[in-house]
Amino acid sequence: AITERAEWREVEDQLDAKRKAGRGAGRAGLMVCVTAPAVRVAIGEELGLAPGTITTGQMVAAQRQLGFDYVFDVNFGADLTIMEEGTELLQRLRHAWGLDLPAEGSGGAGAGPLPMFTSCCPGWVTACEKSFPELLPHLSTCKSPQQMMGAVVKSHFAAKLGKRAQDICLVSVMPCTAKKYEAERGEMVREGEGPDVDYVITTREFGRLLRERHIPLASLPESAFDNPLGEGSGAGVIFGNTGGVMEAALRTAYELAAGQPLPKLEEEAIRGLRGIKQATVTLPPTAPAGMASRQLRVAVASGIGQARHLLERMHTGHSPHFDFVEVMACPGGCVGGGGQPKSADPLVLLKRMGAVYSIDERSAIRKSHENPSIQKLYKACAEFLGEPGGSLSHQLLHTTYINRSTASQPTYTAFQRMDEPCN
Ligand code: SF4
Repeated sequence: AITERAEWREVEDQLDAKRKAGRGAGRAGLMVCVTAPAVRVAIGEELGLAPGTITTGQMVAAQRQLGFDYVFDVNFGADLTIMEEGTELLQRLRHAWGLDLPAEGSGGAGAGPLPMFTSCCPGWVTACEKSFPELLPHLSTCKSPQQMMGAVVKSHFAAKLGKRAQDICLVSVMPCTAKKYEAERGEMVREGEGPDVDYVITTREFGRLLRERHIPLASLPESAFDNPLGEGSGAGVIFGNTGGVMEAALRTAYELAAGQPLPKLEEEAIRGLRGIKQATVTLPPTAPAGMASRQLRVAVASGIGQARHLLERMHTGHSPHFDFVEVMACPGGCVGGGGQPKSADPLVLLKRMGAVYSIDERSAIRKSHENPSIQKLYKACAEFLGEPGGSLSHQLLHTTYINRSTASQPTYTAFQRMDEPCN
């Protein structure tokens, strides 16, 4: 069950213990805070600012005032997710298109079936496990950005500091309560190392913590995330909106497959609040052999009800064949998550979404694979991750799923093909 338990009191106790004992010496050792993309466009609203106000710098400053030793950005984890998920998608496509699978980098996972579904929303993953277990082989094996972030902080970053995973207490600020459940999954606890993420607090809980401590977020001078795990691209931040994971993935997967950048980064067909959106991306004739002029068909479902509707259409052949499908459990995506501020403004989701896109537009780096800190993690730290989809990546950044259904018959035995053009 998705718990509604408020953990902000426990986080406050941890920070108090650390404050009394001195930097890095509390029961929990180092306190590290990581924050999801959608929180920076909503925490101001929780504290009385207009919906859609961007407070990234003030939010980081407030987290430092609370006493965190390091403040990192889940946008970095989102970029890492795209590197791994984009690689996984290309492996599945190459397999489906009858092309050679790369000898290196498959991490032993092999190529799963198409369509591939995103796995970064724990609400959707849980729905699959309980209601659509036949879809589990279709789910990307990538952990979510929150969990990838936790795994890297507690392995690579801990090692760099000469610490053990157990010396770090990682607090994640998220737009939803489903992330609490995700952090507690057995698959997210590494043997002998403990959980990737220790506490998850929602945007509203974070607001309560700041109110309790009389920290005036709106008037704080801006502060920057710590690096290298605080550097995220514009592609990372749009994970907060419905369609954002897909758009970010296309920016990288297209370039990896075509050997040249997407002509236009903004994929308008999959933006906005419509329940189901779809698009077709055609690889250029100049793409490497086997990839040239291939079509990549994608769909986005915003909300579990819309996902069910899309699955029905795919199952019965009343929808085109898709290669890659994004599902976010909350209508609008994470900007509309259950842990975000409550609002009576009918335009609140559009205002938060607009703020997310404006951060992307103003970002110097807008593609995950161009994030220098991500490149460094794979290249300069070759001894750590190696390459996307490599065996250590699989160990740290990928996961498995459990059939939790009680139904005796699968709902969706196969997806029918209907090779009509998308709209
Ligand atoms: Fe959480 Fe909703 Fe975002 Fe899924 S869509 S990760 S349930 S806020």
